[in-house]
Amino acid sequence: MATKPRTDTLAVHAGRAADVSTGAVAPAIHLSTTFVRDEDGGYARGYDYGRTANPGRASLEQALTALENGEAGAAFSSGTAATLAVFQAMPPGSHVIATDDCYHGTRKQLTELVSDWGYSASFVDTRDIEAVAEAFRDDTALVWVETPSNPSLAISDLAALASLAHARGAVLACDNTFATPIVQRPLDLGADMAVHSTTKYIGGHSDVIGGAVIARDDNALFERIRRFQHTGGAVPSAFDCWLLLRSLATLPVRVRAQNAGAARIAAHLDQHPRVERTLYPGLAGHPGRALAETQMDGFGAMVSLCVSGGRDEAMAVAARTRLFTRATSLGGVESLIEHRASIEGPGTSTPDNLLRLSIGLEHTDDLIEDLDQALGGD
Ligand SMILES: *Cc1c(COP(=O)(O)O)cnc(C)c1O
Repeated sequence: MATKPRTDTLAVHAGRAADVSTGAVAPAIHLSTTFVRDEDGGYARGYDYGRTANPGRASLEQALTALENGEAGAAFSSGTAATLAVFQAMPPGSHVIATDDCYHGTRKQLTELVSDWGYSASFVDTRDIEAVAEAFRDDTALVWVETPSNPSLAISDLAALASLAHARGAVLACDNTFATPIVQRPLDLGADMAVHSTTKYIGGHSDVIGGAVIARDDNALFERIRRFQHTGGAVPSAFDCWLLLRSLATLPVRVRAQNAGAARIAAHLDQHPRVERTLYPGLAGHPGRALAETQMDGFGAMVSLCVSGGRDEAMAVAARTRLFTRATSLGGVESLIEHRASIEGPGTSTPDNLLRLSIGLEHTDDLIEDLDQALGGD
């Protein structure tokens, strides 16, 4: 093909080819932990041992790399393991600038885990480029941005952050879990790495934990990440890779349908008398709307709402939903509702009356009716 296939085509075909030995169209799951050596002791087929490489994992990495428009990718056993590999690939004792309302597990890694090895972190509102510039120190190696952020769905300017990071000798990594490569391609905007919890939209069915790092350049930095994958050993199983590759084929249609539902639900909640505030980047009143239009293709399927009242009122609304499932996580086919402050724990800046919705693939009218009855009370 002369031109690079479009996203929907890549989602179905990247990393996949019919099996040459059997003609099977669907990929096989190779459970083998070890692979036959050639007579000269080599491994001409590219596989030696299951921790270092597995055919299904290689397929998944190729597909994710194609979708993110990168040069190389590494799949991990969780999003958290992928995040940790990025931090550990930085020089020991580096300073990291991170989005202030980043995923709480990422904040914990920076403040409670890699801090023990001398890393330090500044949490900054990354919407404010001046504030990010001021947070830079001589030892700043990495800017870690989450956009849209969690759970306030704030939008940070990826191109501006990439320019700033590069001018100061640092790299930019974007946690692209909320957006997915269907909605946002950070590498095209200048980021050096896109990081995913594939547990969420990429898996899409709430049945696999996984993560990935995709790099814009297959350079020395990516080599270090690859080394943490091989030698650190936090690799996904052959079956998990198979599930993720299978799910990728439907990622574009799932995400677009979920985005369309979320946009309608956000507009409905925005008018609701029992909702104090609706946070969704597609709403006209959202401060990140104009920027989101330039760097995203759609606004995602995560919606946060602040219920009129406080924690008790918010908890009561979540307790009354019938279709929305009360559970943490996101990106699956089923819609979820979550009281975010209580899962994040003490010290969180998330308002006590905030509920976070992950919009699934149910009929949007059913979801709206469910929210209306839950908000309306008895
Ligand atoms: C869930 C999540 C993670 C962590 O991923 P796991 O697969 O749970 O380890 C990281 N970042 C974001 C934005 C997430 O939603």
